[in-house]
Amino acid sequence: MPEPRCGAPEFGLSVGEVLRRFLPEYPGSLSPQTRLVLHRLSRCHTGQLGWSLWQCERCSAPHWRPLGCGDRHCPECTARARNTWLAKQRESLLPVRYYH
Ligand SMILES: [Zn+2]
Ligand SMILES: [Zn+2]
Repeated sequence: MPEPRCGAPEFGLSVGEVLRRFLPEYPGSLSPQTRLVLHRLSRCHTGQLGWSLWQCERCSAPHWRPLGCGDRHCPECTARARNTWLAKQRESLLPVRYYH
């Protein structure tokens, strides 16, 4: 399991951090469904949704990592699927320059 690494967190300013900071004082009106999704995203990788134990590829020690929200609107939780999709698309490109 190669993902978690020692050291600094992978994300700088995350959507979850922005939501935790500003959602409570957001003055506009939100539908109950939107509020529910934003609340879920605000708890992503905080530990409030549980933890998982990973084997570190750098130091070989086990590290606990907070679970993501798994919501399809979450940029952090969909990053792996997006990167996998991108890598697959790049494989099918011809080794030439494209001009549109
Ligand atoms: Zn480590
Ligand atoms: Zn998430």
